[in-house]
Amino acid sequence: MPKLVPVADELSKPFWDAVNERKLVVQQCRACNALQYPPRPRCQDCGGESLGWKKTSGRGHILEFVVLQDSHIPYRAPDQPFNLAVVTLDEEPRINFFANMLGIAPFEVPVGAAVEVIFEEVAPGQLIHEWKVAE
Ligand SMILES: [Zn+2]
Repeated sequence: MPKLVPVADELSKPFWDAVNERKLVVQQCRACNALQYPPRPRCQDCGGESLGWKKTSGRGHILEFVVLQDSHIPYRAPDQPFNLAVVTLDEEPRINFFANMLGIAPFEVPVGAAVEVIFEEVAPGQLIHEWKVAE
């Protein structure tokens, strides 16, 4: 399945740098300790502008999924149908990630299952995060 190669901006660069080291990090507010992702310039809870990064366990759960069969994204069209699952992060279930759940047939995604992050190389030296059902 072809993958988009991420283009980091100033806000997301620490996230992608961590992914390239096989770590999943999210922003953490230094004022109220709230975790958030995707990265934003301010804390979504208290509005604080002092945000650091916290390494997560890389563990989550599958909240729900859809199967894309009529996507209008041309580069993904040849792969249809494919799964698009929503994974919630165990440390902060408000944080979620999309996942294709590679190796799981369309419509067979185990909702509620525990998952763990994995990393795939999509270009030389560039990893992306994906998810697989935990052992
Ligand atoms: Zn805050």
